[in-house]
Amino acid sequence: MTEIVYLNGEFLPMAEARVPVLDRGFIFGDGIYEVIPVYSHHPFRLAEHLERLQASLDGIRIPNPHGMREWSELIRQLIRTSDVPDQSVYLHVTRGVAKRDHAIPPGVKPSVFMMTNPLVTPSPEAVQNGVGAVTAVDNRWLRCDIKAISLLPNVLLRQMAVDAQCAETIMLRDGCLTEGAASNIFLVRDHVLLTPPKSHLMLPGITYDVVLELATANALACDVRAISEAELRDADEIWMTSSTREVLAITRLDDRPVGKGLPGPVFRKMYRLYQDYKNSVMRAES
Ligand code: PMP
Repeated sequence: MTEIVYLNGEFLPMAEARVPVLDRGFIFGDGIYEVIPVYSHHPFRLAEHLERLQASLDGIRIPNPHGMREWSELIRQLIRTSDVPDQSVYLHVTRGVAKRDHAIPPGVKPSVFMMTNPLVTPSPEAVQNGVGAVTAVDNRWLRCDIKAISLLPNVLLRQMAVDAQCAETIMLRDGCLTEGAASNIFLVRDHVLLTPPKSHLMLPGITYDVVLELATANALACDVRAISEAELRDADEIWMTSSTREVLAITRLDDRPVGKGLPGPVFRKMYRLYQDYKNSVMRAES
């Protein structure tokens, strides 16, 4: 089946999509993006993703090229171009095409690109056994709350994990946990779920919100506060969360077992809650 993408007002085959070399996304990484999981052809938490898109656009001073209803219609149209029920919709907005100059050019039309791919969630084996992670110093800029397409530090940090045959790199800044290279991080210590508070130092994850909501609704004790490196290193459980990884246990950190070295009881409970919640939302929308 020909892969259809959306580019600046048009749905067209991927192979025919072209952007000018002076697009500021190409020249400066001057743009923002979103990744929206789709289950049974329904976008998950679409309103929340579009709100975060707006916050990212505001953060880098790009006017939103579409209203929320327009975005929603375009995304649904893109989803319908694929027969695959579970998808991952990638969309990005750059500042547009202009003569190369750092300063923001006035009156430039933002470029919009969207594609959809089959959603690849963790394998049953990864859910069963957990995955490995390494730690690294968080060397990114101080606006990690903006979902910017300039991802060079994240690319290098993620490669550190790949080089160590691990799934994620967990970052520490000034001795405190921030997040993963492409995920938010939760800990369990003494039966209490811990995660850092939202700030400019991390991306406000949509899955992070779902996990905290499910924890509260199911009377799991949780504490949203700064987490030290020592607390990370002797946690009973560590999880990563993201739209594509969902909730996944990290069972080895820097080659040492986390807790007993297997996904813990609080993870197993949250994994079930997350799957049940996802299924109930999708049933309600069908
Ligand atoms: N932090 C970073 C740096 C990410 O790239 C992601 C994935 N988009 C997340 C956190 C998790 O966000 P979400 O749950 O919205 O996918």
